[in-house]
Amino acid sequence: MTDRTPPAPLTSRLDHVFPTLTPEQIARIAAHGRVRRVQRGEMLIEAGEQDQRFFVVTAGHIEVVRPSGATEDLVTVHRRGQFTGEANMISGRRGLLRMRAGESSEVIELDREQLLALVQTDSELSDILMRAFILRRVELIAYGFGDAVLLGSSHAPGTLRIKEFLTRNGHPYSYIDLDRDAGVQDLLDRFHVGVADVPVLVCRGVVALRNPTNQQIAECLGFNDAIDQTQVRDLVIVGAGPAGLAAAVYGASEGLDVLVLESDSPGGQAGWSSKIENYLGFPTGISGQDLAGRAYTQAQKFGAQLIIAKGATQLACDRKPYAVQIDDGPRVPARTVVIATGAQYRRLALENLSRFDGAGVYYGATFVEAQLCRGEEVVVVGGGNSAGQAAVFLAQSAKRVHMVVRSRGLAESMSRYLIRRIEQNPAIVLRSGTELIALEGGDHLERVRWRDDQTGGIETHDIEHVFVMTGAVPGTGWLEGCVALDAKGFIKTGPDLSPDDLAAAHWPLARAPYLLETSRPGVFAVGDVRAGNIKRVASAVGEGSIAVALVHRVLHE
Ligand SMILES: Cc1cc2nc3c(=O)[nH]c(=O)nc-3n(C[C@H](O)[C@H](O)[C@H](O)COP(=O)(O)OP(=O)(O)OC[C@H]3O[C@@H](n4cnc5c(N)ncnc54)[C@H](O)[C@@H]3O)c2cc1C
Repeated sequence: MTDRTPPAPLTSRLDHVFPTLTPEQIARIAAHGRVRRVQRGEMLIEAGEQDQRFFVVTAGHIEVVRPSGATEDLVTVHRRGQFTGEANMISGRRGLLRMRAGESSEVIELDREQLLALVQTDSELSDILMRAFILRRVELIAYGFGDAVLLGSSHAPGTLRIKEFLTRNGHPYSYIDLDRDAGVQDLLDRFHVGVADVPVLVCRGVVALRNPTNQQIAECLGFNDAIDQTQVRDLVIVGAGPAGLAAAVYGASEGLDVLVLESDSPGGQAGWSSKIENYLGFPTGISGQDLAGRAYTQAQKFGAQLIIAKGATQLACDRKPYAVQIDDGPRVPARTVVIATGAQYRRLALENLSRFDGAGVYYGATFVEAQLCRGEEVVVVGGGNSAGQAAVFLAQSAKRVHMVVRSRGLAESMSRYLIRRIEQNPAIVLRSGTELIALEGGDHLERVRWRDDQTGGIETHDIEHVFVMTGAVPGTGWLEGCVALDAKGFIKTGPDLSPDDLAAAHWPLARAPYLLETSRPGVFAVGDVRAGNIKRVASAVGEGSIAVALVHRVLHE
């Protein structure tokens, strides 16, 4: 049964979310597609369908509904001059909603390829459609109108990981907190799930995944379904942090056939940043997730394809085309490769640390984590910019932030503006010359202990949240001798490669390696993974774009 009452307006930005196109704009869209007549009740798209199509209504109306068991909820109605679609149209992922003709109607229909061609060539329509698609996705997330329901608990560490994975992939989901909602037993029984199995992700209403890995979630929700993983690509980019996403945007917009592999979620380290304030063009700052989300959509708009939750495990570099081995998958052949695998957080040398991962110990301070410790005391470990940002951000909602820093001061490791904010914030207590030495608790962290390295004095505090922000190591373990590394494992490029490095790598060309080229011709390294890189979002983005200019040169050699 469909509830035929139109829903309350989803947003105050209705003109942008549901714009009405002019006859001229509709004519330009019609030139890319075909006119189709549909009967009342005729299905245009079923929820979960892979084959995404885009419709502009020229007569009648289209209903958009969310199937919910045997019933439906009406989400919206598109009338004459309005169009269907949301972010899935760009990403190529399965549709989340069902669409059908509400009366005998006429539509213009475009398949996804035709739509991509339109947004790449018509900037006015691109602005209107992209803005509407993104805002509609924001509304779907806000209302939890997705195809995933997460049953979780703050005592089950996987819960936070799954929330973060869905959030960082911009995927709408509903959350049921088992600690607060005792009435979910029926749902658990329906899927034969015991309390010990949580977190559980009910995927597309049919599959219940017990504490799934990110890869299982991506598979179930079809994140990678539309992508051919076997064709030879002009450019394979490994890593979708700022450097990799920048290379994808520039590469795809300049006509290259680009595939990006990301072992986790788009955004990289920047995705964990609560607010980036020094990136050009964002005077009031931008959260890492917002920046990554926009870049991700931008790359897809130009036709780059992204494989999520599947990393590169090996580079076959002994012959061309090169081949990148994917986790549990095929080898992707590549004429050129950009390595943008960044760096990973250093973990504290505490033996029971992993027991509290996601259950009191966190490696990022975003809105998701901040909500978990609202009004409580927290510890931030580290003295670099990421630790400083986290402390300032968390101090807005936590009762008190203890910054535990091993060195005697912050001046050498942190930007001046952050030091000033920390000094001036009464909610932040700086504990320099101090080391975290123990974590205690049951299912969740309950207590921490730290030691003043000068006096040797040990203090115990009932604090349930520790943010570890202690720097990172390069993501180069999978390269196995393919490219020259420095003593710390970062990739050497261009002028940093010594004659000995090139001789050891059997550099085959008369020319020297280009600026960001590794000791393998046509394999580039950009961003934090590159030796000598300035560890900033802007430099990562800059290097990603420069590498693409050099990729063109290699492809023409
Ligand atoms: C909390 C925090 C706050 C920060 N704040 C700022 C700031 O305000 N301003 C600023 O300029 N900089 C900031 N930085 C630094 C900035 O985020 C990094 O310099 C930047 O993200 C580096 O980008 P990247 O693309 O080189 O690498 P990363 O961001 O590290 O991205 C690398 C990506 O590669 C993926 N990957 C790794 N191995 C593989 C593999 N084998 N296969 C596939 N994918 C793989 C990872 O999952 C990751 O998504 C901050 C960093 C952190 C951690």
